Amino acid sequence: MKIDLHGKTAIVTGSTSGIGYAIAKGLAQAGARVIVNGRAAARVEEALKKLRADVPGAEASGVAADLVTAEGVESLGSQVEDADILVNNLGIFEPKPFLEIPDSDWLRFFEANVLSGVRMSRRYLPKMLEKNWGRIVFISSESGLNTPAEMVHYGMTKTAQLAVSRGVAELTAGTGVTVNSVLPGPTRSEGVSEFFGKMAAEAGVSQPEMEARFIAEHRPTSLLRRLADVEEVANMVVYVCSPQASATNGAALRVDGGVVKFIA
Ligand code: NAD
Repeated sequence: MKIDLHGKTAIVTGSTSGIGYAIAKGLAQAGARVIVNGRAAARVEEALKKLRADVPGAEASGVAADLVTAEGVESLGSQVEDADILVNNLGIFEPKPFLEIPDSDWLRFFEANVLSGVRMSRRYLPKMLEKNWGRIVFISSESGLNTPAEMVHYGMTKTAQLAVSRGVAELTAGTGVTVNSVLPGPTRSEGVSEFFGKMAAEAGVSQPEMEARFIAEHRPTSLLRRLADVEEVANMVVYVCSPQASATNGAALRVDGGVVKFIA
């Protein structure tokens, strides 16, 4: 199977690093014109430079905008009129005991992880329907199925994304537009790597040892028995954005290394 996305414009939110960058790179490798997004113009420029080096000939441009805010989405919308592919990737996470999570954090997590994707989809879906082709992907998490006790607020947002994604897919019945979610398991993005680096330093062990401990203690059902690489997640996203994935719609696709034990 050869995935060819030439002629398609793809927006990947939060794509200056981590899973988002890997998705942007994968889509660019398949020939899509990619819009890289982050909050700071300097980081967007840096990511674009890296992307052009990683994928010679890549058609890519960048938009600096904080897509957690309505103004940020508005600003991107005024700069990128139309998109064939939208990947709602940006997301925040932070372990915190349930009893210590204030209302403000619940609202902040909801706005960043759920409402940003809602606003982006509302902005770009109508034209996709008009053109009768489009792909929207929400980057949820296995935490949307297994609510993590150490960050219930994060888990709530990842489950909510599944509901939103499935609900929006209902609007696409009979069209060439699909809306799906992808559920990564623990993945070594920059954010997660930093997190494990800190934990390792505090515990006085190496980072690989800390990662192995995390999988053994907190994700014992993992069949992969290691963190996934960002490219392993991006591969699934590129596939679901491809013309070949036309019969996959309203689905929740796992790249969780087998962490989730149930079958359906
Ligand atoms: P990361 O922190 O490494 O990267 C996130 C990216 O989003 C960065 O480029 C950051 O600059 C950008 N970003 C953050 N807030 C933004 C904003 N307001 N506007 C624009 N850009 C913003 O994160 P990651 O680990 O690559 O995670 C990406 C997605 O994957 C998230 O939705 C996360 O919940 C999900 N996920 C990650 C894992 C994992 O283990 N890494 C597992 C499951 C799901």
